[in-house]
Amino acid sequence: MNATFLKSILIISALISVVVVGCVSCSEEDDTAVAEGETTGDGLVLAVDSSLFLTNDGSVIITTVPCTLSDGTVTDCYQIVATSTPADHQMGPWCPENIADGDEAGGIWLENGQVYDVDGAFIENMATFYNDDTWLMYNENGDIFITETEEDCANAANPNVGEEYENFCVECLPSYVADLTQTYLIPITPVKLSSSENFGGDGPGGGNGPSVRGIAFNGVRYDAPAPTDAILGAYTLAPFDDAGGHINLNAGYHYHAATGVNTQLAQDDGHAAMIGYAIDGHGFYAQLDAEGNEPTGLDDCRGHEDETRGYHYHADAPGSNNFINCLNGAYAN
Ligand SMILES: [Zn+2]
Ligand SMILES: [Zn+2]
Repeated sequence: MNATFLKSILIISALISVVVVGCVSCSEEDDTAVAEGETTGDGLVLAVDSSLFLTNDGSVIITTVPCTLSDGTVTDCYQIVATSTPADHQMGPWCPENIADGDEAGGIWLENGQVYDVDGAFIENMATFYNDDTWLMYNENGDIFITETEEDCANAANPNVGEEYENFCVECLPSYVADLTQTYLIPITPVKLSSSENFGGDGPGGGNGPSVRGIAFNGVRYDAPAPTDAILGAYTLAPFDDAGGHINLNAGYHYHAATGVNTQLAQDDGHAAMIGYAIDGHGFYAQLDAEGNEPTGLDDCRGHEDETRGYHYHADAPGSNNFINCLNGAYAN
């Protein structure tokens, strides 16, 4: 190759680089001004990073769609279509089969801020635990009464559960919801509100907002608190698996506790690991940092701000049957 030819190639490459770099910087300024994190009057605002979701097996499909937020902002959202089948862990088990079974045979239950293993001994001890002799969820062989069919699941995982399901351990299996998908909209760039919005549905506050608290990287929703009073009031138990999830026929598989089983993104500075996004597009993090300490300075929603992550939320304790209390960002209508 002669020197002149090489020189012209170098010049052409240099020109191409200038053009490419030029374009990238204009488009960043135009549409994705905060994609890499920008400090505005409201502090650091980070866009949702869609590459963090576990999309390889098709259980999470993300597209960009136009959307209008609760504060009137017209913007783009990520539409997340999820099968709620976690790519990063198994679902279940929920109900142990016999009162002699160990903790590997069952899931967990949340009571008084504590996480209890639902092993055989827990089921055997329920009358004592709840100080109520009506509890007797097993027969003379120690075999535990467990819902067996999709119809049982539909009937027993229902606020008006009939007496025929008293003393049943309720579990709905993945096969019942194999064809179900959930669709969520999350603002790509979160918009902080001047006052918080309550969640809708059964959760604290009972406002007009969404009831879904957030989405894990595997596409499974962090849901409103489980209606444990109604479940126990019907003398049923609907355990969560060790990941804090269980299934109902409408929501599919969903979480009620952040137990550290689904994908956690460790943070270089020792801050609590990231576990997904809140439904308003702000980051969602575990309860405790790398040294086991609670976050400080949380607001009423369980959010706070730092220079690395901007405004973000921390999950409530796994035993609390709660994730966050309200939203400080606008949500997609
Ligand atoms: Zn539930
Ligand atoms: Zn934090």
